[in-house]
Amino acid sequence: MAKKLYIETVGCQMNVLDSELVVGSLRRQGYELTQEPTEADVILFNTCSVRQHAEDKIYSALGRLRYHKQRHPSKILGVLGCMAQKDQALVRRRAPHVDIVCGTGQLARLPELIAEVERTGKPQLALSLDRKAASRTEVEQSFESYDPLRDPSMRPSRFQAYVRIMIGCDKFCTYCIVPQVRGPEQSRRPDHIIWEVQQLAAEGCREVTLLGQTVNSYNYRLGDGRHTRLSDLLIRIHDTPGIDRIKFITSFPRDMSEDLLDAVRELPKVSPYLHVPVQSGCNEVLKRMKRLYTVEYYQEMLARCRERIPGVAISSDFIVGFCGETEASFARSCDLVATAGFKNSFIFKYSPRPGTKGHELFTDDVPEEVKKRRNNDLLAIQNGVSLADHLARIGTKVEVLVEGRSKTAFKHDSSTGPIQLTGRTPTDHIVVFEGNERLIGQFVTLAIREATAFTLFGDVVIEEQVGVEQNGSQRFPAAPLEISVPRVSLPLI
Ligand code: SAM
Ligand code: SF4
Repeated sequence: MAKKLYIETVGCQMNVLDSELVVGSLRRQGYELTQEPTEADVILFNTCSVRQHAEDKIYSALGRLRYHKQRHPSKILGVLGCMAQKDQALVRRRAPHVDIVCGTGQLARLPELIAEVERTGKPQLALSLDRKAASRTEVEQSFESYDPLRDPSMRPSRFQAYVRIMIGCDKFCTYCIVPQVRGPEQSRRPDHIIWEVQQLAAEGCREVTLLGQTVNSYNYRLGDGRHTRLSDLLIRIHDTPGIDRIKFITSFPRDMSEDLLDAVRELPKVSPYLHVPVQSGCNEVLKRMKRLYTVEYYQEMLARCRERIPGVAISSDFIVGFCGETEASFARSCDLVATAGFKNSFIFKYSPRPGTKGHELFTDDVPEEVKKRRNNDLLAIQNGVSLADHLARIGTKVEVLVEGRSKTAFKHDSSTGPIQLTGRTPTDHIVVFEGNERLIGQFVTLAIREATAFTLFGDVVIEEQVGVEQNGSQRFPAAPLEISVPRVSLPLI
């Protein structure tokens, strides 16, 4: 009987991709996935260290499995990813029933570690070097980019995929643990990336999202003086038959180069969408965060993006309650959100991270209830801005890639007709609409009818379809709409 694998993932897109790849490689070893941890022979937690809350979640889950492991000692429990790399000893101390602790840069060794636990019954540790423990080259070598063969059945959707183009980060923002747990910034070889995208396209993937902590810093040096930038990579990926949409996240404000903006404007398959976190609207806070830019620089960069890419949508991240953030400095973040025109903002309460410069140098002096209030206040301002942006889109036509059923769709019976689906525009706006389930994975044109701060609502544009009865009873053709719905192009405002 096949062995069973359970995996739980916390954190960013990079972790989601790592989990997909881990599952793919273990399935090739004969494992089957289960949704029930107590049924599994191997239970894995792919962890995040960016905020304390993410770590607490994992320790609670591990605590719940303590008794299960006592009763079934042959079951294997593994902690993977950022928390494993950061807190190797602590994980073993707080959860001694864990068998495997495997850092972000060592995931390729997982099958071997599982085999070793099975053989010896002893805990296994696989970690990369601490950034201060050795030379840059040695540390780099210990953080291996994990890029095994993809398994289409393991992706959240067959037609969308993340593609890692770089690992690590060298920016060392003072609040952030990522440079420690994901290692030095290293760009992947362009030909390996292109090959992976071609493979994905051959498996039916239509949209790729290129991933990097500072994705626009991508720069692969060929050794003969030549180098490949993100813009060069986009041009090469653009030629891949079958790939219709290309996105990239997350960008660093200082590295938003002209060639990249030109590539986004000129390449029709590249989404006019940029995620460029600012973190704060106050220069003093930005300085303490060591973000390497001022608010004025950031605003000038925004203006440049909008001038070079008409219709571009820009989203941001903010941290509220960072050390020394006064009401006056918070008010500057509010002003920035009110005026910058972000499509949306991800807002986080500062969580001190031992091992970062911020934790070493500054006091976490903003009380939790103040952080909570600032988080809510900033979110309320952003919601107003998002609503205005959404309302302005009513009456326009957009093209979406249909991602799946909307959360409310399950209330409907899909066998009796249209259900609620969601799709995403090239500008990353979510649109909910009624349609046939067969539209999932297809590009569809929608007319926007209504909007809230979070969602657009639309209707399939049917007048351009060929061979469809328009009597209201059959709004969707029997054949896949890939054939019958012509694509329209954006951008629009
Ligand atoms: N590399 C990306 C960048 O520089 O924008 C983001 C990476 S980080 C995983 C995602 C977001 O988490 C950051 O943009 C920041 O807003 C937030 N974050 C990072 N460290 C944090 C901390 N210690 N407390 C709260 N939020 C944090
Ligand atoms: Fe963290 Fe800053 Fe690097 Fe982003 S750029 S991963 S916030 S250190």
